[in-house]
Amino acid sequence: MNSKIIMLGTGNGGTMDLYNTCFVIQNEVGNFLVDTGGSIEILRRLEKSNIDYKTINNIFISHSHTDHILGLFWFFKRISRFVMCGQITERINIYCNEVVCEAIKGVAKYILPDKLMNAIYSKVDFIILNDKDTYNINGIDYEFFDIQAKGTKQFGFECKLNDKRLVFLGDETLNPIMYDKVKGADYVMHEAFCLDSEENIFHAYEKNHSTAKSASEVMNKLDVKNLILYHTEDTHGIERKKLYTNEGQENFDGKVIVPEDLEVIDII
Ligand SMILES: [Zn+2]
Repeated sequence: MNSKIIMLGTGNGGTMDLYNTCFVIQNEVGNFLVDTGGSIEILRRLEKSNIDYKTINNIFISHSHTDHILGLFWFFKRISRFVMCGQITERINIYCNEVVCEAIKGVAKYILPDKLMNAIYSKVDFIILNDKDTYNINGIDYEFFDIQAKGTKQFGFECKLNDKRLVFLGDETLNPIMYDKVKGADYVMHEAFCLDSEENIFHAYEKNHSTAKSASEVMNKLDVKNLILYHTEDTHGIERKKLYTNEGQENFDGKVIVPEDLEVIDII
């Protein structure tokens, strides 16, 4: 079974030229959506990636911040009409921690009509994650874990894609108590808020974020083979990929990957 990562968005919570970080793990069995970004743009990103949103049966929301959760409400709004006329036959699993679940249900109550949400609730199963819970999604075993974030409660996951160990670490600088979790991983997905030379402009550290340099240095010490950096600012336009890759690569012996929005990452 061949799996790949389709980056729907790669920006941080304040970007407008980039969509907020979210992606799909795609294989022959289906599409697993990880986070939803913060707007209706999620639907366009799926369309541009040739993914029919009506076929998404598994969604993971890492944490309850705007740039990860709000796209879900636009997804609900769009699919509800197909649920109501019986066109969505399979159940939809939403994997999240209890804080995220509470946020989704609480916000939905105020911003979407009861009729619409009742249709959604008739089709959706919220699967509340505890630390180290494992689930098989589209034929792949995922272990979800609490990343021990300094901010709001946040989960990441570990899985094997194409026989490679991949660890997704959400959007905070990795807490040192989690270092053992990523040691020697084939692929790590870690945020990089800005370039190191621009930390004084974007203040990554005070937001519990990293620079391309600081993330790469730590991942290098942990003997990670391939480092995927995302959740960046968007002031560098087409230069961004090169600038971030160069800074990361200077501090990392393996391969640094800085995807563009809509880029497909092959796990090899
Ligand atoms: Zn974020």
